[in-house]
This record gives sequence, structure tokens and C-alpha cells, in this order.
Amino acid sequence: MQSDLKSDTPPRLWPTVQHPYQGGHAVLATKHNKLELIAPPLQDAIGLLVTSVEVDTDLLGTFTGEIERRLPPLETAIEKARLGMRLSGRSLGLASEGSIGPSPSLPLITVDRELIVLVDDEADVVISESYESTSVRSVSRNVRPGDPLEELMERADFPHHHLIVRPVNGQKGPIIKGINTLETLIDAVAACGSSTPDGVVTVESDLRATASPSRRLVIAEAAQRLAMRLLQRCPLCHAPGWGPVAIIDGVPCSSCSYELPLPRAVVHGCPSCEHRETIELDTTNERDTVRFCPSCNP
Ligand SMILES: [Zn+2]
Ligand SMILES: [Zn+2]
Repeated sequence: MQSDLKSDTPPRLWPTVQHPYQGGHAVLATKHNKLELIAPPLQDAIGLLVTSVEVDTDLLGTFTGEIERRLPPLETAIEKARLGMRLSGRSLGLASEGSIGPSPSLPLITVDRELIVLVDDEADVVISESYESTSVRSVSRNVRPGDPLEELMERADFPHHHLIVRPVNGQKGPIIKGINTLETLIDAVAACGSSTPDGVVTVESDLRATASPSRRLVIAEAAQRLAMRLLQRCPLCHAPGWGPVAIIDGVPCSSCSYELPLPRAVVHGCPSCEHRETIELDTTNERDTVRFCPSCNP
């Protein structure tokens, strides 16, 4: 383990007698009913009370793309939390932000990465945690009015998971969200289809948190991980939120020492001070994988 402190100024020390957020009150900015997913783990783990404030989080970007997201997920989540803090006059805020799309390594698989932040403007820290899952239900299919929908409905786990009907990419027409009955689905396909020249519409999963139970599970897991992270204290200043902040790649090939793009170490960091510790991973097994080496095995 390697410790490294960049700053000369000693960090301000956080209280250790009880958790700094025990008995605190954070406000969750949400439009999509996430309170029941996020509040319980934080209440149970550290005694933080969480209430919600309705914020039109869609202004910061929507899944359906009517409003483009301007900022990366972390900044979007922080901005969302601050919207709620301003509205409620609290210095402690929470927000979550999902990114759902094709997996970078397996493009046919959909990955849901849920990020959650706790923003503490009094102490000037942001503590974030995330969770990634491929178990979110996500379908997208082009259909015409009158086409059979049974197989699509089964794949989408409809009506348990809601659907969206919209014109095929690029075409103008209504976007109908939150569809949760067969009747409204058929009507939406007909209405949307009549507004496009060829009658083809896209039926896809409604990925808003209220409409996707499988996504709700991923958000709940991210909240659980944030609670666990808040229990970890910085070894130097005792701030809550100590944990992994970066991964260092570069396992040397056992034969030629070429650095393979595999994780070699994890950097743990503090959200409040600059303290970092690098923990080397056990890569003994990977050192044998000469066959992955582009230099030895071009
Ligand atoms: Zn090699
Ligand atoms: Zn610290």
C-alpha cells in the first residue's frame, strides 16, 4: 500500500464520536419517485433523514432525447441535487442519475449505470457512488399498426415495465410515454403510425424510474452502496465517503513486460482532503496470460 499526500496544509478533521450525518436532513431532488429507493439505506446505515422535493429533473436531460443532457452524469447529478437544495433551503442534498445504453464491450447488451451523489455545501464535499447492471429491461422494436405485439410485450415485461411509442428516428410526431395497458399501447401505435408517412413506429422501454421496476432495483443498489461508502472514513481526516476513486491499468506481461490493459491497482481517496492510497491488486493469475499480450501474440 502506498500513501500519498499532495498538500502541505493539514486537513480539517471530521468528528468521530458519532457519524457526521447522523441526525442530519438531506433533500432528494426527484421527479420520478425515488425516495423509497434511496432514503431507507441512508436512514438505516447512518441515521440520515431523507425527504424529497419535486424538481423538474427533465430540464437537465431526458432519456427520450427531447432535452439533450448538457453535462456528464456526475455534474448532472450534482446540479440536480443543488436544484433541490436551493428549493428547500438545505445544505445537504441527494440526487441520482442513470446512464442507459449499449455496453462498450458487448454492444447488444444494455447496461444501466446509476450514479448517486450526496452534496454537502456546508463542508464543501461531494460523495458519490455508482452501480452498474445489465439486468435492466430494455427493448426497442419498429412496428406498424396491426402488427402482433405479444412477443415484444413479453420481452419488455409489459405492463410491469411501461413502454414508449414514438415515430421512427428522425421523423416528427407524438412521443407517447408511460404506456401500461394493451389498449393504450394499440392506440399509441395507431396514433403515432398515422403521423408518419410509412406508418412505422418505434416501441421501446420507458426507462424513467417510475416506469421501469428493473431500473429501480439498480438505483436501490447504488443507494445501498452510497450508504456503505458513507460508513467508511478517511484514515487521515475522518471524513465519511472513503473508497475507490480510480483504477490503474497496466499488468506487465510475464514474458516481455508489455503492460496489458488490465487493472493492476485501485486508488482509494477521500472526498474532503487530498489523501490517497494505492492498493495493488493480486494479479498473479493474469501474469500468466502471455496469450493476451499483443506483443508476444500479435
Ligand atoms: Zn508479452
Ligand atoms: Zn480525508
